[in-house]
Amino acid sequence: MPLISPWRADFPALAILEAQGQTYLDSAATSQKPQALIDALTGYYTCGTANVHRAQHQPAERATRAFEDSRIKVARWLNAACPTEIVFTRGATEALNLLAYGLEHLITAGDEIVVSALEHHANLLPWQQLARRQNAKLVVLPLNEHGIIDIEAATRLIGPRTRLLAISQLSNVLGAWQPLAELLPLAKAQGALSVVDGSQGVVHGRHDMQALDCDFYVLSSHKLYGPEGVGALYGRGESLLKLRHWQFGGEMVRVADFQNADFHAAPLGFEAGTPPIGGVIGLGATLDYLSKLDAEAVDRHELTLHNALLTGLAQRPGVRLLGRPQLALASFTVDDIHHGDLAHLLTEQGIAIRSGTHCAQPLMKSLGVEGAIRVSLGLYNDGVDLQRFFDALDQALEMLR
Ligand code: PMP
Repeated sequence: MPLISPWRADFPALAILEAQGQTYLDSAATSQKPQALIDALTGYYTCGTANVHRAQHQPAERATRAFEDSRIKVARWLNAACPTEIVFTRGATEALNLLAYGLEHLITAGDEIVVSALEHHANLLPWQQLARRQNAKLVVLPLNEHGIIDIEAATRLIGPRTRLLAISQLSNVLGAWQPLAELLPLAKAQGALSVVDGSQGVVHGRHDMQALDCDFYVLSSHKLYGPEGVGALYGRGESLLKLRHWQFGGEMVRVADFQNADFHAAPLGFEAGTPPIGGVIGLGATLDYLSKLDAEAVDRHELTLHNALLTGLAQRPGVRLLGRPQLALASFTVDDIHHGDLAHLLTEQGIAIRSGTHCAQPLMKSLGVEGAIRVSLGLYNDGVDLQRFFDALDQALEMLR
């Protein structure tokens, strides 16, 4: 049966890219956008913009209402207990930096911050820098042979000095779900805070913050079919109270004089300056669109597509997968062929994939590879996309061998 995406037509860019001879297989880097988002952005920018939480005029009230509605939509999407548990940021990277500064006062010399060997630089470097500032130790959880954090090692390495555990939900290189249900209680048992980088995970399926029981969860709108320049930080009510303010300016302050200031609590206290208003409203519209889809059908489609990708790769001699991808993407190398050369030939044939170290240099080093090709899928991809990719791959391999 042909692999068709019933949602493809909702993403107008795909037809345009197709007309340009481009097959988009790089959704883990960023996704294409649904018409619903484009309409919401056009509506917002056409009907009169205004700043939020400030003026009393009608356009400002409208913008504030739409902005705060988006907070409610994100809270619902994540099943947060309350919309005030959602802080808007300018991306996942900014949310992680917010945490690394906001929690700094809880980390002292000799404390341990635990990350894993598969982290994206965005969930590694902010903690590395925090460890440096506070003379703390960065502990790295190793992976097992399937590219999953080794629970046995984690049980040993998460200990009484652990103050914080920061791990990805779904690896952007290995495409494997990480065992949060086992890891998060290990941190909790030591009284440590937990941070989950949901940048990739949030795009696939639904994730329930109350069931997950982490302290903080970070997502990036542009990977979730929403606009760039927006991220969200979920923090459990009592965990948000532990954060110290980190960026200072308008709207995050209750009272200020020349020498002192008193700041709002979260979320507003962590949204200094004019936020990305249009983007936040656009993210809300994107979640409205996604909420209306048949979630089970989306899951089934993504899994079928992914299986077809893995089957096709397994049929090509010399192709080596990194880890054991479960969903969304696959990264691979090919024996005796440089990933850069292969990427060049795929790109020349209109295949939009990514090659390199995928912002995870320590992981690539530990896997013993210089770089890899990554094919990543969105809900709009279909069997024709995969066929074009495999045809291009076969042609490229023939040329390079
Ligand atoms: N974490 C992971 C796992 C990611 O894949 C990415 C984006 N590549 C990020 C964090 C950072 O997201 P952003 O660049 O949108 O801030």
